[in-house]
Amino acid sequence: MTPPHVVVVGGGLAGIRAAITCADAGARVTLLEARPRLGGATFSTRLGGLDVDNGQHVFLRCCAAYRALLARLGVEDRVLLQPHLDVPVLAPGGRVYRLRRNRLPAPVHLVPSVLRFGYLPLRERLHAALTAGRLKALDRGDPRSDETSFAAWLTQQGESALAIERFWDLLVVATLNVPSERASLAQAAMVYQTGLLGEAAAADIGWSRVPLSQLHGDPAAVALGKAGVRTLVRAGVDAIETHGHLAVRASGECLAADAVILAVPHAAAADLLPGAAGVDRDGLRALGRSPIVNLHVLFDRPVLEEPLAAGIATPLQWMFDRSESAGLEPGRYVVVSLSAADRWVGCSREELRGVFLPAFEALLPAARDARVESFHVTCEREATFAAIPGTGRLRPGPRTALPGLFLAGAWTDTGWPATMEGAVRSGAAAANAALHALDEAE
Ligand SMILES: Cc1cc2nc3c(=O)[nH]c(=O)nc-3n(C[C@H](O)[C@H](O)[C@H](O)COP(=O)(O)OP(=O)(O)OC[C@H]3O[C@@H](n4cnc5c(N)ncnc54)[C@H](O)[C@@H]3O)c2cc1C
Repeated sequence: MTPPHVVVVGGGLAGIRAAITCADAGARVTLLEARPRLGGATFSTRLGGLDVDNGQHVFLRCCAAYRALLARLGVEDRVLLQPHLDVPVLAPGGRVYRLRRNRLPAPVHLVPSVLRFGYLPLRERLHAALTAGRLKALDRGDPRSDETSFAAWLTQQGESALAIERFWDLLVVATLNVPSERASLAQAAMVYQTGLLGEAAAADIGWSRVPLSQLHGDPAAVALGKAGVRTLVRAGVDAIETHGHLAVRASGECLAADAVILAVPHAAAADLLPGAAGVDRDGLRALGRSPIVNLHVLFDRPVLEEPLAAGIATPLQWMFDRSESAGLEPGRYVVVSLSAADRWVGCSREELRGVFLPAFEALLPAARDARVESFHVTCEREATFAAIPGTGRLRPGPRTALPGLFLAGAWTDTGWPATMEGAVRSGAAAANAALHALDEAE
């Protein structure tokens, strides 16, 4: 019997996971990607002699589906994972307090470092520990928790504006790509409950040692080929046809399919989804977008002594030493990741230099004597959807009302924010739903 034909549209992490899962289960799979490469929102380009990622990507130890995909692609050795969560938090004037875990079980694993977090008065540190206990107990499945903002809830618990800015936003801005005042309480609670308040090791941070295309897109092309997937790049899909049978139209060609997995960003999905799919397309568009800007700064000498650091009372949100991936001595190539970056999106490179180079000098003593060899900016205007209150109910699951048509993407209802883990989970969920439906149809 001819195996069923599954067409996966979109070659980001969701599409890659979906295609590999279907091929491993014996389906005939075609993957169609509009751009000339795989990897979707995770890729690298060459800028001024450096391999530069479109944006710094990190994951946590609890990102099991993402890490399993890395294993399937054979690239686990291309990432580093902290043995213990350890984030130096720097402020102008040379102060450093570390948020790190000890060897005790959660949530006690973080209590000593929160109590030593000197950017807040002691009373506020104690209060933050109490609030964390309440956050752990919060029922994020209650629809009301998606209707309120995290900052509103924190304020109700007695958290000050200073605590929200200096403590709670450190994690929320980086993971939800919106500040607490705009973030859905349900989604913020998910991040804290899963990352910091559940398993002690869950929030150990990992990142790539190589440019992102060498971690995802390129190895995925090889793995897909070995799995028997036919991958077509520069193959943007124009329409999904539903007249009598499912088919996908790309570059003038029509591909008949037993199942289609649509793994494109939410705005593109809204444009491609046929009405019969029964998905609220305006709801998808209402998921909105939130930008991320990255600064890629090459110094003539080491300036950053840590592999990563967060900043307080400075526009430098998170900094990463990416020297290794560029083949340079440690501390010279610093990437600054600016999430929820609306205020930076319209700025020119010169304007950003004017703000951020003095900020480096104020934060990192070694930067004062260093010469900047290059300063590049990457800007992703639609990096993620905006995880604001009310977005939970706008995220559909993998199934649609149209038999044979399934949805994947970090924006679908995975329970996770718009992350690599969410994308991979969504791809697996859509593939499993498609395989199940194909089995039933036999
Ligand atoms: C700058 C930046 C920093 C980030 N930082 C982190 C981080 O630190 N940690 C983390 O976990 N996540 C991070 N993310 C989020 C993460 O990258 C995404 O959530 C994830 O990669 C999305 O994967 P996806 O497969 O759902 O979608 P995408 O990667 O967007 O893939 C969709 C694919 O569909 C293709 N496509 C679109 N239309 C069509 C069409 N008509 N036909 C065919 N193909 C089409 C696109 O070209 C694209 O390749 C970051 C994102 C950005 C942009």
